[in-house]
Amino acid sequence: MKIKKRVLQGMRPTGRLHLGNYLGTAKGMVALQEDPDYETYYMVADLHGMTTPFDPKKIYQDALSVVTDYLACGLDPEKSAIFLQSQLADLHTQLAFYFSSVITVARMQHLPTFKEKVKQHPDNITMALLNYPVLMAADILIYKASMVPVGLDQEPHMEVTREIARKMNAEYETDFPEPQSFKTKTRYIPSLLGEGKMSKSVEGSYINLTDDLETIRKKLAQTPTDSGKGETVPTSGGVANLLTFVELFQGQEKRADYEKKYTGSGIRYSELKTGLAEAIYKDLEPIREKRKELEAKPEYVTQVIKAGAVRARILAQKTIDEVKEKMGLKGGL
Ligand code: AMP
Repeated sequence: MKIKKRVLQGMRPTGRLHLGNYLGTAKGMVALQEDPDYETYYMVADLHGMTTPFDPKKIYQDALSVVTDYLACGLDPEKSAIFLQSQLADLHTQLAFYFSSVITVARMQHLPTFKEKVKQHPDNITMALLNYPVLMAADILIYKASMVPVGLDQEPHMEVTREIARKMNAEYETDFPEPQSFKTKTRYIPSLLGEGKMSKSVEGSYINLTDDLETIRKKLAQTPTDSGKGETVPTSGGVANLLTFVELFQGQEKRADYEKKYTGSGIRYSELKTGLAEAIYKDLEPIREKRKELEAKPEYVTQVIKAGAVRARILAQKTIDEVKEKMGLKGGL
């Protein structure tokens, strides 16, 4: 029998997925789940949700909400193990601790993702935040996953994961793979505000998968534009981002149409935004419908994660036992 390659992915519990999560990651997760060459482990990274300020009254419900979004996007518990990271907190954090002995504080402090969070939450630079990439490495390597469907923003963390795998293998003769990112065509979804990426931590930058037409319209209305014409089509900023969305949801031809108008008679942005809002809303319709069905049966969602965690634990425990043994921690094995 052919050995399947393992896949791990986890999103933080932010309640609702946005277009960036969906196009950058969830679509890739579904594609790998459907590929018979892969065995897929999909979690909600609720421990990672604790690396920036969070509400203990909401974190669990928010995590379940991401599971609901996963299922609505097409993840299938018959094919993928779907669970919460905190259900295996004992094992994931344990491995993260072992890993933290082979990577330096300076390496973590220099990561662009860390620096960005320091800017966003200057009063909350916790050990948990510094340790974020080490825990992510543990999440991936505890399943010996070799493929991770992540957006471009996670590439520095993937590099840390590979570095930890190499160091562990060299120092302790473990057999961790050096995992690669699974690249979707849409690894970078820009912000609606014209600068940077679509991100749930930047209000107004994102469209949620469950937004209604009116909300999508209002959000698009805020995208900065220009006079609608010029000698060359902008390659960055609000107009460039709008054209990216046109291409994603209305196709390459529609984009070419608008580009022609830009250098000719001019684009009327109110028309462009109305058409685009409708196209996005329509594209997300099956996800919204499925989500509604799932919301009516919350007990199903908890059953899914219970079964998923049982599957994941078997593999995770095996890795922990191996690592303890190789690192010389033989007591308790
Ligand atoms: P997060 O919500 O930051 O935990 O991200 C969950 C997943 O969505 C990660 O794989 C990210 O790389 C991906 N993601 C987040 N924002 C974007 C974006 N704007 N474009 C593409 N992928 C994204």
